[in-house]
Amino acid sequence: MERKRIYLSCPTMHGEEQQYVQEAFDTNWVAPLGPNVNAFEKEMEAYTGCGHAAALSAGTAAIHLALKLLGVGRGDIVFVSDLTFSASCNPILYENGTPVFIDAEPDTWNMSLAALRRAFEKYPNPKAVICVHLYGTPAKLDEIMAICEEHSVPLIEDAAESLGSTYKGRHTGTYGKYGIYSFNGNKIITTSGGGMLVSGDEEAVKRATFLATQARDPARHYQHSQIGYNYRMSNVTAGIGRGQLLHLEEHKARKKEIYQQYRSAFADIPEIALNPLNPDGDANCWLTCMTIDRNSKVTPDMVMDALAEVNAESRPIWKPMHLQPVFAAYDFIPHGEDGGSVGENVFDRGLCLPSDIKNTPEDMELLIGTVRKCFGK
Ligand SMILES: *Cc1c(COP(=O)(O)O)cnc(C)c1O
Repeated sequence: MERKRIYLSCPTMHGEEQQYVQEAFDTNWVAPLGPNVNAFEKEMEAYTGCGHAAALSAGTAAIHLALKLLGVGRGDIVFVSDLTFSASCNPILYENGTPVFIDAEPDTWNMSLAALRRAFEKYPNPKAVICVHLYGTPAKLDEIMAICEEHSVPLIEDAAESLGSTYKGRHTGTYGKYGIYSFNGNKIITTSGGGMLVSGDEEAVKRATFLATQARDPARHYQHSQIGYNYRMSNVTAGIGRGQLLHLEEHKARKKEIYQQYRSAFADIPEIALNPLNPDGDANCWLTCMTIDRNSKVTPDMVMDALAEVNAESRPIWKPMHLQPVFAAYDFIPHGEDGGSVGENVFDRGLCLPSDIKNTPEDMELLIGTVRKCFGK
């Protein structure tokens, strides 16, 4: 019999989700609006302290609307984290803007302050900065905010992977002019698919909701003075989100435990390092990642192959955006003066470990033993 599959990160349902979905069916609110959508927004506002929230069909849609609200258009430069998933920067291209990729730094794997400063020297007037909190680790928000404020450029926080993470006691996603969350299937909580745009600016969030519902003017007939989008969250999936939100803290606690388990299990193998946390924050540890020292004979592919053999899912680190064929034409600002790319180094030497919260102690033992064996332990 084949060994059961161990996942990187997949949905964990609890029961309340189905009750909220049942309510949607019972009341026939099966539409991209309704009581679950409104309540999910209120509950996320209360949980994160974000001010105002618009529930949307995806995190990508939330980034797109944030860029629309900031007026990003043809030829406008937007600085964006280089070490991330392509959804962080695709919406810049939807608006015919020009991404400039900012390297990661070794401390957090998030936006490098040195590279960001150098980017401002080269391009003094970007329209926005998008910084990602990779794998749940908060970026150095105080410093990034200070640099952005110095140049009067608004910050968008891509907190798709970091819902539940805090920085200096406040939730990631609530520092920038806009924050975005994702509820995709592999994120720390899910609605199957969905996202949220948040901001302290109530008018802006109202405008986002307007744009997300086809930009229909207030008139009896169908009247439109602007281009709109069909980006609103469904009342059915919002029900899943409400049920999930009740368990977010529990998911975070378990994710953190998995990170610590891996950390202590590999403590005696000096070639292994885990993805960095930020001492000024409390990370949700969405995925635990490891890097292998350049001088080791073991490669990330060898570890991924060994995990595949016990039917465990692992995956490479996000491939940096400046190495993606589709973004080859755009500029990249490295962390170091010598031009070396931190993100590329992490990509070459790293992998994401199975971090699913349903992993049993036996699963963890198997995973840890499998990785250790690669290093002759
Ligand atoms: C998942 C993810 C997104 C996109 O969110 P969707 O809800 O899948 O559209 C954006 N940025 C990052 C960093 C992500 O991991």
